[in-house]
Amino acid sequence: MCSMNPSDASPGASDAVSPEEAALLAAAWEIRGAARCPYSNFAVGAALLDSEGRVWTGANVENASYTLGLCAERVAIFYALTHGARDFTCVAVVTGAAEPSSPCGACRQILHEFAPNAVIISAVADGRQLRTTVRELLPFGFDASSLTTRA
Ligand SMILES: [Zn+2]
Repeated sequence: MCSMNPSDASPGASDAVSPEEAALLAAAWEIRGAARCPYSNFAVGAALLDSEGRVWTGANVENASYTLGLCAERVAIFYALTHGARDFTCVAVVTGAAEPSSPCGACRQILHEFAPNAVIISAVADGRQLRTTVRELLPFGFDASSLTTRA
């Protein structure tokens, strides 16, 4: 079970993971090898677990026109959504950084809309993690209810 343990809420905290989380992290590490990041050399792998137990993966893809690149998290979730997945419980994000990296602002917005209840596990190669939630990363997020007007 993918869960949020408050004692694990800071980088470098306990690295204990469930078998399900370990498999999700392994999937993220594997897809990270498919990253297309010749400009930043910052490869990222992401894996999402849906409520049916399916795993959806993605890696970052860059372009010579830099702003057109897409983060691993969004590649993974758009892939999942376009294949019918709807309810996500956990997101694993792995990088080669010194410290666990949390999703960027754009990815937080996308996760807020499509995976609002997900736990996020960001990990680095030595196994250290940052465990958080989408709600913690984007409180008061903009969503469909924000579009309600009075007139
Ligand atoms: Zn991002």
